[in-house]
Amino acid sequence: MSGHRQPVKIGVLALQGDFAEHIATLKKLLVETREVRLPEELSGLDGLIIPGGESTTLSRLMSIYHLREPITQMARQGEPVWGTCAGMIMLAREITEHDPVPLGIMDVVVQRNAFGRQVDSFEQDLDIAGINGDPFHAIFIRAPAIQGVGEGVQVLAQLPDGRPVAAQQGNVLVTSFHPELTGDLRLHQYFINLTRRVSPSQRE
Ligand code: GLN
Repeated sequence: MSGHRQPVKIGVLALQGDFAEHIATLKKLLVETREVRLPEELSGLDGLIIPGGESTTLSRLMSIYHLREPITQMARQGEPVWGTCAGMIMLAREITEHDPVPLGIMDVVVQRNAFGRQVDSFEQDLDIAGINGDPFHAIFIRAPAIQGVGEGVQVLAQLPDGRPVAAQQGNVLVTSFHPELTGDLRLHQYFINLTRRVSPSQRE
């Protein structure tokens, strides 16, 4: 084997939602990207992002395109998977309502549209474990909240009222908010650092 490292390739589920903003953010970090719509497009990826959007639609499209099983497999094999907003809803073990049907990859209970109509959208500076420097300016859009976490789950960030809004279990990451909309690259870099191709010496 040569010591040459292949570039990191991150897939973004591109069925619905704001996948283009994730792709644009990843490109700024000089990794290879791929829009994923079909199961075979998951092969050879070093990680997958499930973007925000509308989780009921996302859930149906994932079933239609036979993506539930291969994404679950990918996560079980330890490949990094990150869900933002609707993507976080899809990764949960349980949702506090019947629809959508989540993948059950992360041991969290998630409530959709947890912040009510009055505060459909809001912004909040967050301290996030593992992210150095200034607080992270987080944008919440009809956001879900994490209601309960299992033992193996680490809460990375909480709102001032204590509600968790970012968490990690192994290589599975969830955020209630939208880092791809802020121009702050640190969470995407954090996710890239979870991939096997990034050696510890390259990490910041
Ligand atoms: N409210 C949406 C849902 O329940 C999520 C919103 C988002 O992804 N920005 O699926």
